[in-house]
Amino acid sequence: MHPLWVVLLLMSSASLETYANNIEECSIKKDASHARYDHTRIYNVEFATAAHVELFQALEAQSDSLSFIGHARVPGQKLSIMVSGQKVADFDNLLHSYNVSHRILNYNFQKLIDASYCEVAPLTTPVEQFDWKRFFQLENIYAWLEKLASKHPNVVTLLDMGTSTEGLPIKGVRISFGGDNLTSVFLESGIHAREWIAPATATYIIDQLLHSNDAQVQTMARSHNWLIFPTVNPDGYRYSFTHDRMWRKNRALFGICRGVDLNRNYPFAWNTTGASGNPCHYDFSGPTAGSELETQRLMKFLEQRVHTDRIRTYLALHSYSQLIMFPYGHTAERVHNYADLKDIGQLAAARIKAYSGRDYKSGSIYETIYPSSGGSKDWAHAQLQMPITYTFELRGPPDSEDLFILPANEIEPTASEAFQAIQTIIEEAGKRGYYK
Ligand SMILES: [Zn+2]
Repeated sequence: MHPLWVVLLLMSSASLETYANNIEECSIKKDASHARYDHTRIYNVEFATAAHVELFQALEAQSDSLSFIGHARVPGQKLSIMVSGQKVADFDNLLHSYNVSHRILNYNFQKLIDASYCEVAPLTTPVEQFDWKRFFQLENIYAWLEKLASKHPNVVTLLDMGTSTEGLPIKGVRISFGGDNLTSVFLESGIHAREWIAPATATYIIDQLLHSNDAQVQTMARSHNWLIFPTVNPDGYRYSFTHDRMWRKNRALFGICRGVDLNRNYPFAWNTTGASGNPCHYDFSGPTAGSELETQRLMKFLEQRVHTDRIRTYLALHSYSQLIMFPYGHTAERVHNYADLKDIGQLAAARIKAYSGRDYKSGSIYETIYPSSGGSKDWAHAQLQMPITYTFELRGPPDSEDLFILPANEIEPTASEAFQAIQTIIEEAGKRGYYK
């Protein structure tokens, strides 16, 4: 054989080996029971007419092979839709038959998922190596919370709301530097399992509150007590690593399908709009209001603590769309402190713009993203009278090509800009007298 061929052969086998090694290095191994999204495409469509809206409403009701990220509602609206491989031809044909303008954001969603699973820290990662350069599984997050409690026994208390449907604990921390009669900030994240950036941001915030050298952050950390639960849907979060990267709901079983959308399950305006009564749908509101264990745990925790801990602020972290939203979700009717929430939300968005250049919009849930009912923060604002109530939709932008699959190198920028916005919310709410 010519020596050049030998060299070329060696080179190609070396690069193949490197590729195989990289796959081996992924801590989430490909498994026969993992959901696959090979050749699943992401379309972003824009409805020009009421007829387009009706067409897509009918399509969503009819097809199992299309996953809508939101519902078709109004002309002018844009919507992202996942289309599985065997439906691509029909779907593409439909768009052209009805002249629906569209963009294809992704041609093979599995590639993104493979890359995402390679950015997960191995379960065996020592707790000292917890960071914001990779995504962490539930066990690692809980081990880190436990370490904080033992390292800062006078400041950090480990909390446990109780068990989930599948018997996992719902753990969080209380951070309190002392001081009499402080008000508390409550933060929940991970209610939607696939939104991995949310728990990563929650742990970043915990770390900043405890370890930041910034004098302003230290002052804020000490002027409130903090109740932070990074993963309020532990079963779903675990399932998104072990079986399906796109899982959203909890794991309760209802006949042939599993899962309640926990952020549609709260007993306030329950199941009135933007929620489904079908357990096979991604936004199933549950058989009854507050039916789910995870919902009940969180409600009980807050009901018991709202007065004793003087909880005045409720923050929820989600992705994606870059929004800072406040109640209500089910109606255009305005909450009593709409003007303050709108002002503060816009200031928080402006802080992010100045900090990172990212565009976030602020407004009520109903007017910014889409109507929905049974959400946790609407319940907290209306039933528990927590006045400062915001839901973040973190990165990426509304027409994101990655949907919920944010690359790990965006964890720190996303978390730090959200933390900037939270500082503005707390400062501005303080100025307006909400923490007296
Ligand atoms: Zn969400």
